[in-house]
Amino acid sequence: MRAKPRRIIFEKKQIMILVVVVCLFSFGHWALSSSQTWPFQERPLNVWMLDVGQGDALFIEFPTGEQMLVDGGPGDVVLAKLGSVLPPWDRTLDAVVATHPDADHVSGIISVLDRYDVETIYESGVGAHTPFGEAYEQRRDAESTHVVQISRGDVINIGEVRLTILWPEETQEGQYPEKRNNVSLVFLLEYGQTSMLFTADTEEEAEDGYAAQVGDIDVLKVGHHGSLTSTSWNLLELTDPEVALISLGKDNSYGHPHPVILDRLDQIGAQIFRTDLDGDILLTSWGGEPTVVAHPLLF
Ligand SMILES: [Zn+2]
Repeated sequence: MRAKPRRIIFEKKQIMILVVVVCLFSFGHWALSSSQTWPFQERPLNVWMLDVGQGDALFIEFPTGEQMLVDGGPGDVVLAKLGSVLPPWDRTLDAVVATHPDADHVSGIISVLDRYDVETIYESGVGAHTPFGEAYEQRRDAESTHVVQISRGDVINIGEVRLTILWPEETQEGQYPEKRNNVSLVFLLEYGQTSMLFTADTEEEAEDGYAAQVGDIDVLKVGHHGSLTSTSWNLLELTDPEVALISLGKDNSYGHPHPVILDRLDQIGAQIFRTDLDGDILLTSWGGEPTVVAHPLLF
């Protein structure tokens, strides 16, 4: 009669040990397979230029843990990219920035809104009477997502990181221009000594409108995939970037990047990274000078 309770206690101990082992294994597997840091560790600022082909999709992980996607690229390749960067159970994003509703920027956002809970969408308000422009508006309006229209003068502070909106001059609600590149959202990211200019698809005419407000930068997201219509001498001389990031598809039909633009970047001494040659690109900063490396993701 005495042996019975002892056996029960022993079985409980075994189960406890098994539970602890399973928990440790799961936690270890997550720690090794994801790019996330431990919750109690200090985190750097990470900015990914995701290799999504001919389009733009950039993903920002803030030192305070917030996550922001800037454009979604064409198709839904961004979902595989986010799946590589985020732990498998993470289905929320704090913010999405839709710089302008052209298919190579917004079509992936539609897929992201299908799969992820997005807290806030930032946009200029400009619309597009195109299949992708209309699909984006429908998807956005069907969500409970908070939509915020921003323009020059607005500032988004996330911890110590500051995003200063430089363009367009005014919000664009109700505007459906035929060409939307020059009303795309442009902002300057600053974190300690690190600065990066997000130019979306703005061309020379718009660049002339915001270039003087930028100052010296570390990193330039090259405008409009390296097209000849963007990255003017005026912008380059006023911002003097150390590193230039170009997002574009391999052997694209537009002839991006234009050799003249590559030559300009070369002449100012900027180190060039291209998604068609380097794959995914990662900027990391702890508040000092940033490091930028080619960092191909698993998918
Ligand atoms: Zn584009």
